[in-house]
Amino acid sequence: MKTGEKLYEGKAKILYATDDAQQVIQYFKDDATAFNAQKRGTIGEKGVVNNKIAAHIFEMLEGLGIKTHFIKLLSDREMLVRKVTILPLEVTMRNIVAGGMAKLLGLEEGIHLKDPVFEYHYKRDDLGDPLITEYHIRALGIATDGDLAFIERQSFAINRILSAFFAERGLELVDFKLEFGKDQGGRILLADEISPDTCRLWEVGTGRKLDKDRFRRDLGDVESAYQEVLRRVLAEPSAKAATS
Ligand code: 5GP
Repeated sequence: MKTGEKLYEGKAKILYATDDAQQVIQYFKDDATAFNAQKRGTIGEKGVVNNKIAAHIFEMLEGLGIKTHFIKLLSDREMLVRKVTILPLEVTMRNIVAGGMAKLLGLEEGIHLKDPVFEYHYKRDDLGDPLITEYHIRALGIATDGDLAFIERQSFAINRILSAFFAERGLELVDFKLEFGKDQGGRILLADEISPDTCRLWEVGTGRKLDKDRFRRDLGDVESAYQEVLRRVLAEPSAKAATS
C-alpha cells in the first residue's frame, strides 16, 4: 500500500491518502493532549500500543456485526481504514460515574449507574466539546433521525460487547467515546479508535486506572498502564477474571 499525501493531522493521529480513493491510512502518534489541548506531552510507544489495541477491538466488533472503518493492520503504527466523513459528534457511553459526568452533576467518581448513560457532545475543542441533545443535532442538520437511531443502537451494542470483553480481562469499562463517519455510499461506520486514550478502564479488584487519566492527572506509570491494557486485550480471557 503506497502512502500518499497527508490529508489531516489530529492530536493523536495522521491520515494519509492511498492509491485507492476510498481507503486511507490512519497513523498513530505518541503525542498526547488533554483538557482540549491545554496539556500536551508524549506517551512512549502509545501509537504502537493504541494501533494494536484498536485493530484488535475493531476486528472483534466486526465479527459481531458492528460496521467499522477498519480494513487491516499495515504496520506497528498504521492501519488501513475506509475513508469516511466524520460526523462532528463525540458519542460517550458511561457505566460508572467519572470525569465529565462527575463534574457536570457534582457526583463522586465510582458510582455504578443503574443504566448506561448515552450522550452526544458537539466535536469542537475550542468550546470544550459541549454536551448537546438530539434536537441540536437535527436542528443544525448534523444528522437525521435515522442516523441518530442507528448510532444509538450501535453504541449500546458496542457497550455491551466491550464491557463483557474487558470484564473477561479483569478490567471495568467505566466510560468511552466513539466517533462515527459516513462512507461514500452514505453508510455510517464506527471510526477513529478505541483505546486507553478513549476509554476509562479500571482494574477489577484494585480500581487502578489503566487509561489516559494517568496522563491527564499526572498519576505516573502511564506507559506501563497502556502496555498492560495491550497485554490483556491480546490475551485469551482467563477463567479467573471471567468468573470474578
Ligand atoms: P469525559 O466526558 O468524562 O471527559 O469523557 C468520557 C469518556 O470519553 C472518557 O473515557 C474519555 O477518555 C473519552 N473522551 C471524551 N472526550 C474525549 C476526547 O476529546 N478525546 C479522547 N481521546 N477521549 C475523549
